[in-house]
Order: sequence, then C-alpha cells, then structure tokens
Amino acid sequence: MKDETLIRYSRHILLPEIDYSGQNKLTASHVLIIGAGGLGSPAAIYLAASGIGKITICDFDKVDISNLQRQILHQDESINLNKAVSAKKTLTKTNPHIQIIPVEKKLNVREVKNLANDVDVILDCSDNFETRYRLNEIAFSLKKPLVSGAAIQFDGQVSIYDFRDNKTPCYQCLFPDSSIDSEQRCSDHGVLSPVVGVIGSIQAVETIKLLLNIGASSIGKLLIYDAKNMHWSEIKFKKDPKCRVCA
Ligand SMILES: [Zn+2]
Repeated sequence: MKDETLIRYSRHILLPEIDYSGQNKLTASHVLIIGAGGLGSPAAIYLAASGIGKITICDFDKVDISNLQRQILHQDESINLNKAVSAKKTLTKTNPHIQIIPVEKKLNVREVKNLANDVDVILDCSDNFETRYRLNEIAFSLKKPLVSGAAIQFDGQVSIYDFRDNKTPCYQCLFPDSSIDSEQRCSDHGVLSPVVGVIGSIQAVETIKLLLNIGASSIGKLLIYDAKNMHWSEIKFKKDPKCRVCA
C-alpha cells in the first residue's frame, strides 16, 4: 500500500476488524448499485470514499430539479444529465483512485444478471417493487448477497439477503407478490430528505460488513426506521417453505 493510500484509509486501517488486509479486500471488491437516486446517493458516496475498488452504478433516468432535495449525488449543474453519468462525476471527485462504471440504459433481466455475475454485493437502491422482486430473483440465482433499502415519507427499511448462505430467506419470503398493488413512491407521497440518507448509509455499512465478514449476520431481519418518533424496530422473518423463488 502506498503512503498516500495508507493515509487516505488510515481510519479504516486503525479498526482491527478492517486493518490492511480488510482495506486491500475493499480495494479488490466490486459492487453493483441499482439506482442513483435518494438511496443510491449516500450508499455510493460512502462506498466510494471507503475505497471499494470498482462500483457499477445503473440508472436510466435523468436528473430533475425535484431530485436535488435528497439525491445528493447530483447538483444543480447536473440537471438533465443521466443520473449514472452524474454519479460518476461526483464519485470521481470523492475518490479518483477507484473505478466507477456508469450504466445509462434501461436494462432487461438478462443484462442485469450479466452485470451482477461479476460483483461481490448487489445494492437495491431502486424505488419500485418490480425491480426489488427481479433483483431478489437474480441475486438468489447467482448466490450473491443483496442489500435492499426503501424509504417513503418519514419511514425507512433495510433488509439483507446473503444468498451465499442456503438458509437465508429471500425478499419474496418477506413480501409476497400481492404487495405490488400497494406500491408507494416518493414521487407521489413525498419523503423527508435525510431519511433516504439514513437508509442508504446503512446499506453502505451492511455492504462493507458483507464484504469483510464483520459482525453478526443480518439475514432474516427487517430493520424499520420511524423517523417521526425516532424509533427503530426489527422484524425477524424465516424462509417460506412455499416461496416460489427460494424454496
Ligand atoms: Zn424466498
């Protein structure tokens, strides 16, 4: 490790759970972030600053002025720019020593699967159930860890699916398809800006823990954040023996 690199990551290296070997492992890691919006912004910024060596970030949408209230990857000058391209600009300023691969086009399942095949962890930072279900199926079929986040109004949630472990329940076990009918989006219902920051940041924390095998397993746990009452709760869930994805 070069002197400059040592200094850059010194506060990580000081942690016995990370040390040089962990930091080198982060440098050798590749993560896939689906969505460069409210959740993808803090997740990508923290993962880039942390020195994840390769980040593929996908978003086919363009930056709109209404995104700037919470999507901190993008600035005023990025309006009308593709979000993945705008993300690369910001992340390169944060850490010019890593590789950022922006994916601008709308991907089909096969294309996402091809991208996901090369990565160590998948982050679901999307804003819709359709993408969450498809990413769950893709991550399960490739046996890759999936870190899923969601936020709306004053509420957020995070769940982790580590498909390297056969016993992990999946997103489909937790939310059967019927919940698609009750889909809510920030664009229709609003969201408090820093709530997406909290949830996206936890997704970055859990990604690093998965990459370095730090701490207790977070599988089978749904973490729920109620910002209005500053209340955290946890729901434990099990593998559904009749799950159409993982059973
Ligand atoms: Zn399942």
